[in-house]
Amino acid sequence: MAPVESWGRIRAEGAARPLWWRDDPLPEVEGTMLPFGRGRSYGDACLDQGGTLLLTRGLSRFISFDEATGLLACEGGVTLGEILARFAPLGFFPTVVPGTKHVTVGGAIANDIHGKNHHRAGTFGAHVTRLELLRSDGSRRVCSPAEHPELFAATVGGLGLTGLVTWAELRLKRIPSAFIRWETVPFENVDAFFELSARSDTTHEYTVAWIDCLARGDRLGRGLFYRGNHAEAPFRAGRRRRPVTVPFDLPDAVLNRLTVKAFNALYRWRNRGAGERLVHYEPFFFPLDGVERWNRIYGRSGLMQFQCVLPFDRGLGGVRGVLDAIARSGQGSFLAVLKTFGGLPSPGLLSFPRPGVTVALDFPRRGERTLALFRELEGLVLEQGGALYPAKDLVMSPRMFRAAYPRAPELERLRDPRFESTFWRRVTAAEERP
Ligand SMILES: Cc1cc2nc3c(=O)[nH]c(=O)nc-3n(C[C@H](O)[C@H](O)[C@H](O)COP(=O)(O)OP(=O)(O)OC[C@H]3O[C@@H](n4cnc5c(N)ncnc54)[C@H](O)[C@@H]3O)c2cc1C
Repeated sequence: MAPVESWGRIRAEGAARPLWWRDDPLPEVEGTMLPFGRGRSYGDACLDQGGTLLLTRGLSRFISFDEATGLLACEGGVTLGEILARFAPLGFFPTVVPGTKHVTVGGAIANDIHGKNHHRAGTFGAHVTRLELLRSDGSRRVCSPAEHPELFAATVGGLGLTGLVTWAELRLKRIPSAFIRWETVPFENVDAFFELSARSDTTHEYTVAWIDCLARGDRLGRGLFYRGNHAEAPFRAGRRRRPVTVPFDLPDAVLNRLTVKAFNALYRWRNRGAGERLVHYEPFFFPLDGVERWNRIYGRSGLMQFQCVLPFDRGLGGVRGVLDAIARSGQGSFLAVLKTFGGLPSPGLLSFPRPGVTVALDFPRRGERTLALFRELEGLVLEQGGALYPAKDLVMSPRMFRAAYPRAPELERLRDPRFESTFWRRVTAAEERP
């Protein structure tokens, strides 16, 4: 079996037990355990170093679907890609999808993921109507906003710590076709982004921006704004391009500042002035899935993602400060994404999305230099009253976690005592790092 690792290439150290049947009891294991979906979390939120990972890939069955209501019941290891393949041709779509379709329903619930339509639809958990939780004492609870509501709220965004989601029921939405009207609008700086975003959120269901993270001064935060709406029929799901795969780890030297610059220039050139086009949903929602295992580009040492949300009420200074620190560091990133979150409350105790602007970027993991930058960025986020995203995190301090997630003690009370993660041990540790 291939080694189990997170997307940032942190290898699991400990046991792994595949699960096959939702009615089976949890396997008997020594010590702690944690469900593991497709490992699309970047850092250590999906790892339990020294414990046992419960691999949910085998829990991949659809259970029922009601075409009248769009309610789909499926096992926790079903991926959003599998839902799309089956239901998009029938005119149904998951209400919230992230930037990759290779995530499981259990993982999407546990991180209460967000998509390009957060301003309209809120988080994934807002569209989960029920789920079954299997706890280490052998009990099974069907939870919903009405049944065991406390446990439901703790499980949505609960980082896999309340037990195993064996199955869940989600509301899919109707789509008129498999196509998106996708418009690209270049913008010159971060102020222009906010204007464009505010205007587009009223006219477009999906909004997100790519930014050139090396631009500074007046051009700080320049980039391309993407917005889209589902296109009306008569289009049908068309031919899809087969993804290419990065066949092996590339040497670290490939990823230097020059290649990042070249990539940014190319990306900008390819998309600049593209105007409106009609595209299949895949390249619009999941552009990175076109290259499978693209995390190998970062070599064996892997990558880290920084993702924060900064509240609107502190103004634009915070976003400028974060972007400026990143540009100054020159450590670059293939991806820098900017998106505003709307005001719809998340159903989870520990959900990351909250009103504000979110910034997300990948960095090659280069030891102390990268850590120093992450500490500087964390300081800026803390100062602004923002939050870091556990799904992407590897280094958040307990102080930052306590400030951003004040309801964590409630989750701790409802946590399954046998379920733990490396992330949880780190961010709830009493000792602060030096
Ligand atoms: C290219 C890329 C783009 C991304 N874009 C976005 C984005 O736009 N928005 C966003 O919000 N996130 C995004 N993510 C992050 C990703 O959506 C989340 O990390 C997601 O939770 C990963 O799902 P997974 O199935 O791989 O779960 P894993 O990463 O394996 O696990 C995530 C968490 O879910 C728990 N878990 C998994 N299965 C179960 C289960 N059955 N029962 C209980 N707990 C379970 C695990 O214990 C862990 O805590 C992106 C990631 C990548 C790699």
